[in-house]
Amino acid sequence: MMAAIKAASLEQEVLLIDKNPILGKKLLLSGKGRCNLTNAGDLDSFLKRFSRNGQFLRDAFKKFFNQELMDFFQNRGLALKVERQLRVFPVTDSSSSIVAVLEKELTRQKVEVLLRSEVKDILVKEGRVNGLYLAGAEFIPATKIILATGGATYSFTGSTGEGLKMAQSLGHAIIPLRPGLVPLEIKEKYPDILEGLTLKNIRIKFCSEKNEIISEVGELLFTGFGISGPLVLTLSAKIVDWLKEGKGVYVEIDLKPGLSREQLDERFLREFQANPKKGIKKILKSLLPLKLIDLFIKIAGIDPYKKANQLSQDERRKFVALLKSWRLAINRARPLEEGMVTQGGMALKEINPRTMESRRVKGLYFCGEMIDVDADTGGFNLQAAFSTGYLAGESAALS
Ligand SMILES: Cc1cc2nc3c(=O)[nH]c(=O)nc-3n(C[C@H](O)[C@H](O)[C@H](O)COP(=O)(O)OP(=O)(O)OC[C@H]3O[C@@H](n4cnc5c(N)ncnc54)[C@H](O)[C@@H]3O)c2cc1C
Repeated sequence: MMAAIKAASLEQEVLLIDKNPILGKKLLLSGKGRCNLTNAGDLDSFLKRFSRNGQFLRDAFKKFFNQELMDFFQNRGLALKVERQLRVFPVTDSSSSIVAVLEKELTRQKVEVLLRSEVKDILVKEGRVNGLYLAGAEFIPATKIILATGGATYSFTGSTGEGLKMAQSLGHAIIPLRPGLVPLEIKEKYPDILEGLTLKNIRIKFCSEKNEIISEVGELLFTGFGISGPLVLTLSAKIVDWLKEGKGVYVEIDLKPGLSREQLDERFLREFQANPKKGIKKILKSLLPLKLIDLFIKIAGIDPYKKANQLSQDERRKFVALLKSWRLAINRARPLEEGMVTQGGMALKEINPRTMESRRVKGLYFCGEMIDVDADTGGFNLQAAFSTGYLAGESAALS
């Protein structure tokens, strides 16, 4: 949509084709329906939130960055607000108001919109685009084509990776697709009991048999198959690559990152000595969420009906160890379909970062999530899509 708007604003005749019956189906889902459209951080902090390929976006960001994107919406009457971690949302708290502004602008710029129309193939003649075929074999001539078909996750939104296949059939290299920002499955059988449990201010450390991979403090959510939540999603890209190499990965959860093992042991001791006749389950209530108490007692192999003064030093230390480093084995990441973003896609060496034009086919441009660039949550992925779309639209119009 941004590419079409920009190209049309430069006096070009633009046709926007989407196979869905509405525009912006994934955009409508974004930010839990509120659309975290960008982040108000500066360029350097922005680039740090992209996985290895963020530098590719420098030219696109130089041309059209977060302030320009915010101005775009605000100048068209949609007020925005900045929330925690500099995440930017519309004040309406509704992604439909973002789509509405884009649709109105498409109309104002006289972009023709063709919905329910699937692009099947791109015709190239003498190294230059000539037009495209729709399903049903209708041919539409074109001197420039901007592919903005997205990644390959949440396929019901229309992002099924077809654009990548078309690009591949024209000789472009595709970096294998992996899920990004994706929940992880664990091997243990606990998720059923723990589903829905959120642990806040905990440290999670991902490690292989010997090495620590990554460790951060934040929030963890248990799902019906494993773990999720903002912190897990953020760290998942690294874990997906690690798992792909066939290495065993564990997550170690520290439920009390503010206390050392010794301090926690002393705290247990104090509680037990102050309440010698209290059952251990009751005492643990001040230290652990209810759902974890029974589970930890079971894992530690302790009689749940014991009183505080009946607990041995060894049993107390087992609890401390569980609270400080509860270890779960990661089975695998959830499938590509469930990633919030796609890792991999159009190989960057095939695209000119100053124009977004293909280095193989003249007149063919790429933008958005189909490019091999992906980022953390926080508005970075949509900014990348808007920025590359703007640049592709401008370059296609001016070349
Ligand atoms: C649940 C969820 C929440 C998210 N929340 C955020 C967020 O808050 N902030 C953020 O920055 N990012 C978020 N993202 C990521 C962000 O939504 C995507 O990165 C972004 O939508 C990518 O934009 P795009 O235009 O490249 O692709 P898409 O939005 O995937 O659009 C691609 C379009 O191409 C069409 N298409 C595909 N193939 C064809 C074809 N052959 N013919 C015709 N049309 C075709 C599809 O129908 C689709 O409409 C979220 C993602 C998900 C899944």
